[in-house]
Amino acid sequence: MTIMVGDAHAHSNPIGGLGAKVIAEKFKASGGWFIALVALPPSAYKLEPPSLEAYIKAVEVHVSECSRARHAGLKVACIAGFHPAEVDKLVDKYGFKPLQALELGYKIVDYVAELVEKGVLDGIGEVGRQHYKTTSDRALIAQLILERAMEHSRDKGLLVHMHLEQAGEATVELTDKAAARLGAPKNKLLFHHADPKTAIEAWKKGYPSSIPGTPKLLEYALNNLNPFYMIESDYIDDLKRGGAVAYPWEMAYNINKLVKENKNLEEKASKILIDNVAMVYNVEPP
Ligand SMILES: [Zn+2]
Ligand SMILES: [Zn+2]
Repeated sequence: MTIMVGDAHAHSNPIGGLGAKVIAEKFKASGGWFIALVALPPSAYKLEPPSLEAYIKAVEVHVSECSRARHAGLKVACIAGFHPAEVDKLVDKYGFKPLQALELGYKIVDYVAELVEKGVLDGIGEVGRQHYKTTSDRALIAQLILERAMEHSRDKGLLVHMHLEQAGEATVELTDKAAARLGAPKNKLLFHHADPKTAIEAWKKGYPSSIPGTPKLLEYALNNLNPFYMIESDYIDDLKRGGAVAYPWEMAYNINKLVKENKNLEEKASKILIDNVAMVYNVEPP
């Protein structure tokens, strides 16, 4: 039996990469049934300089990418947001003042939330905290933008892909404190690109998570963790950078290889790659 694979977080780039049509066709041919496609910042689509208009255009590009993936036969969750690394990029590369970066981030998150309400998008992401050292004002800006997304999640019940540092218990506890203070629903806040330690802590507190689908982590997670998480390729679709984390179709191949080698993993794998995905994204399983 071939395990159908849901990819909980990936990117597509019709300008600098293969684009969603090719990605979806390759992925589907390897057993893919679902992909959560997350928008890239405007610069990835050569929309510069960054501004609210550039972000709005980037969301348009991304929405077209999502419909290409749907036409290729995948179920798709279409997500857009304001990546925490954008805070640093806007200040360092484009000369924004910190408060201008904050204001732009707020506006983009508000805009995305409106599109989710209209049914154009399916969630906010990526928002969160830088996974590298930055200045304290910029870390706080990223956190405040994450909190704005949590408020929308609370008010509209929408899904948020959180990009965070990987500090296990601290990452989850710090995020949980903000979510609890704001009254955001835990089952809508996804710890994306979580290492196993962070995923376990998220699970203990009732949050969904997805673990990067590299060969090493796939093998570790399938063999050692209860099936509470999802798997993501975090494919970057940049022809200059290769797959970065994993190619969705290679990930699907590697999962099926592991399951073929050890039939005991079959049930766990289908929970992780089908049931959990269907539940978190509220889609019909294949
Ligand atoms: Zn990320
Ligand atoms: Zn990503």
